[in-house]
Amino acid sequence: MQRAWVLMLLAVSLAAFAQAPPGAQGWKIGDFADVAEPPADTLIRCGIVIDGNTNQPRKSIDIVLKGAKIVEVRPAAYDQLMASGTKVVDLSNETCLPGLIDVHTHVLLQGDITMEDYDRQLLKWSPEYRTILGTQSARKALEYGFTTIRDLGTEGAGYADVDIKTAINAGVIPGPRMQVATLALDVTGAYPLLGYAPNVPVPKGLQACDGADRCRKAVREQIMYGADWVKVYSDRSYYIDPSPPAAISPTPMLNDIPTFTMDELRAMVEEAHRQRHKVASHATAYNGVHNSVEAGIDTIEHGDYISDADMKLMVQKGTYYVPTLYVGEYVAEGRAKAGAPVWLDMIKISADTFRRAVKAGVKIAFGTDAGGFDWNINPAVEFELRVKYGQTPAEALRSATVVASELLGMQKEIGTIEPGKLADIVAVKGDPLADITVLEHVDFVMKGGVVYKGGR
Ligand SMILES: [Zn+2]
Repeated sequence: MQRAWVLMLLAVSLAAFAQAPPGAQGWKIGDFADVAEPPADTLIRCGIVIDGNTNQPRKSIDIVLKGAKIVEVRPAAYDQLMASGTKVVDLSNETCLPGLIDVHTHVLLQGDITMEDYDRQLLKWSPEYRTILGTQSARKALEYGFTTIRDLGTEGAGYADVDIKTAINAGVIPGPRMQVATLALDVTGAYPLLGYAPNVPVPKGLQACDGADRCRKAVREQIMYGADWVKVYSDRSYYIDPSPPAAISPTPMLNDIPTFTMDELRAMVEEAHRQRHKVASHATAYNGVHNSVEAGIDTIEHGDYISDADMKLMVQKGTYYVPTLYVGEYVAEGRAKAGAPVWLDMIKISADTFRRAVKAGVKIAFGTDAGGFDWNINPAVEFELRVKYGQTPAEALRSATVVASELLGMQKEIGTIEPGKLADIVAVKGDPLADITVLEHVDFVMKGGVVYKGGR
């Protein structure tokens, strides 16, 4: 009898678990302003299409949609489809592109040039208030033209990224498609908040773990609560090493204090991969990058300094490099003034690393660390620096479309404008292949066949 009750209770709770997330029940997409279901048929008439595949611009192209998906891309023509009353979006004076992808954001962070900026957000703003701001950041990302983002850590706001993603998917708020990393991981004593008296409990910007088993457990916990990615911090405390071993670098290089031991890193990578999740590593300087690549991490974040030997290994292993050039320049002066002049040197070092990585053929994806700088700055400012430091505009665009979609494992759904893919389409005036900065002025945004900006 007792056993039957237990089984019945279990069945009831499993049924509840399988339903839509709390709060979304009974709501339909379209119940809220700005979020609607895509029309049955849409035709987008583009002056120019850069489809992301070849990046060869094609003139006068019609993109035909059925609901959320692209069904045909063809030369523009007046035909029965237009005569039959299909919704037509006229972008004949614009260049249409695949929706942009930013693979390194923090929607729950609102700029942290100095430690004080960071501490204030964790100490004086509740996670609830930060989540409200996070919904705004997500909306801004979408309106800038980023139809997909990978958000790499909530910086002390718990699992709020999972909730923002859920609310976007349920049609409660507008925002990009999201993959999220939840809390992120580092060792004890390596990540803010730091510098408070031992008897004063303060919040942490991530989850600390020590020892292979405990770190493996932390990975399991984060995946249990909704992490798509595991984010680890593999180094800290950067400095210019004037005379590194000649075999590593014949010239001065950026060095660091590694955080995790190799045992810990390998355990986290193994556990994440075992559960078919990937690992992103904040790795700024020599040891962080080297240890991460050795441990089999999937993406190197920042990578301000990467040795030539590690670049070779990244090419062999297919490891992605996600440089964040703009945020480095944005925070450098403020951090130098606050007593860390190394940040000024890091601008030159990261530009040199980027140039070498382009030459070495490392897979470079577009990420910005938006949230590390104010969300009122369009993260597309990163494109100009990528071109300045060695990519062609076409390569820079590819890094934010095709390459980024592959990094996310979403290359069958997004990243190009072609039949079968989701209708994530943005448009700009002008030619991004001639002037990459036009990507800072996206004036039309469609995600999954729904227009979020520039409806016409
Ligand atoms: Zn970051």
